[in-house]
Amino acid sequence: MIAELTTITSSNSFPEMCTRMGAFLGMNEPVPENAMRRAIKDDEYANNLITCRNSVDFLQVLLNDPLNESFSESIEENTHSNGDLALKAVKAMFKWGKAGFSVVDDETLERRENACLSCEHLVKPNKSLQKLVVSQAVDKIGKRAADCTCKLCGCSISKKIKIPTESCPGAHLTQPGYNRWGEKMPR
Ligand code: SF4
Repeated sequence: MIAELTTITSSNSFPEMCTRMGAFLGMNEPVPENAMRRAIKDDEYANNLITCRNSVDFLQVLLNDPLNESFSESIEENTHSNGDLALKAVKAMFKWGKAGFSVVDDETLERRENACLSCEHLVKPNKSLQKLVVSQAVDKIGKRAADCTCKLCGCSISKKIKIPTESCPGAHLTQPGYNRWGEKMPR
């Protein structure tokens, strides 16, 4: 399974990623692009796809969900930067899947979010794919920076901070070896 995931995340383009995702799920055809876009944006949908891996009937229901059409807005996946962002998102998704789709506890979520909210690398998205994966910020822990991304890694903040396997790419200003979330930097 790990080898298959590596194959998907090493895809060079969005259509190629859809083809490899289809193969990973046990299909003989690519995942429809709208479904792939939704999987990148909607964690629960991505979770359901992986749960239904090799169950063709269930997969067809998910992949043909009329709601997927709302993810059909034209994005420039073929530009290098957007391709990189898509790959990063899928890579994070599968890393998270391998960790059982667990989420951090409330205290960690708030600490990470507070760090992001006071970080100069917190930005409003400017790439089309980034705009697709952010949502409206609301005054609720975990959603306060939902309309922002990290300038260093390009990730959606509200998704990144809740995933245990994710890490902040910014070095802590005063604590060597730690990131801005106050967690040890991966080696
Ligand atoms: S993930 Fe780290 S570097 Fe990025 S905005 Fe948050 S605190 Fe800053």
